[in-house]
Amino acid sequence: MHILVVEDEHKIAVALKNGLEAEGYQVTTAQNGEEGYFCITTGEYDLMLLDVMLPGRDGIEILKTIRSKGITTPILLLTGRDTVGDRVLGLDSGADDYLVKPFAFPELLARIRLLLRRGKQETEHLLKIADLEINLLAHRATRSQENLDLTAKEFELLVYLLRNHDHIVSREMLAKEVWLVRERSTPLDNVIDVSMARLRRKVDGPFEKKLIRTIRGVGFCLGTSAHD
Ligand code: CA
Repeated sequence: MHILVVEDEHKIAVALKNGLEAEGYQVTTAQNGEEGYFCITTGEYDLMLLDVMLPGRDGIEILKTIRSKGITTPILLLTGRDTVGDRVLGLDSGADDYLVKPFAFPELLARIRLLLRRGKQETEHLLKIADLEINLLAHRATRSQENLDLTAKEFELLVYLLRNHDHIVSREMLAKEVWLVRERSTPLDNVIDVSMARLRRKVDGPFEKKLIRTIRGVGFCLGTSAHD
C-alpha cells in the first residue's frame, strides 16, 4: 500500500513517513501542493494524506483540482482548523475524511485502514432505510432529502447503525467499531450515550417517524419498527 503524504512542515512529514513505514506502508512525501499534485497525477497511490495549510495553493485548492481531473484516490485531509464550515468545505471539495491536528497517531492509522478498506470493498456508496439516506462518497446524510448536519463521529455512528439496521447494536460494539477502543469504560459509555442522544435529536427530532430506538440495558437499534 502506497501512501502519498503532502505536508510542508518537515518535522511532521518525517514523523508521518517514519510512523507509516513502521506500519508497513510505502510512503512518498511532497512538500507543497504543486509537488503533491504532480505526484498524484503521475504515480499510483492507494491513499493521500493532504495538509490543508500549505504555502502557495492550499490543500483545499489542490483537492478540488485533483477531483476535477477525475482522480478518485481516497484523500484524508489534515487540518489545523475544526469548525463546521471548514469541515463541510473539505468534504464538499472531495475529501473522504479529515483529521484535526494535533491528532493521535493510532487514530490516523485507524482512519487510514478504514479508507483503504472502504476503497477496496465499497462499490455501493448509498445506504438507505425509509427516508434516511447516506451517501458515503459525498459524506452526506439526509432525511426526506433534508441535509443532516452531523459531526464526523455522528456520521460514522449513523453509518454503523444503518449497516446493522434492525439489529441491536451494543455499546461494546460501538466502542470497538466506531470509537476504535478495545476496552469498555464508564467514561466512554457516557460519551457514546451523549453522542447517541445528539444523533437522535438530529436524525429523529424533527421527524414524525422515529428510526433509532434505545433497547434498555442492551444498546440501540436503527430500523423502521422504532416507535418510542
Ligand atoms: Ca502545513
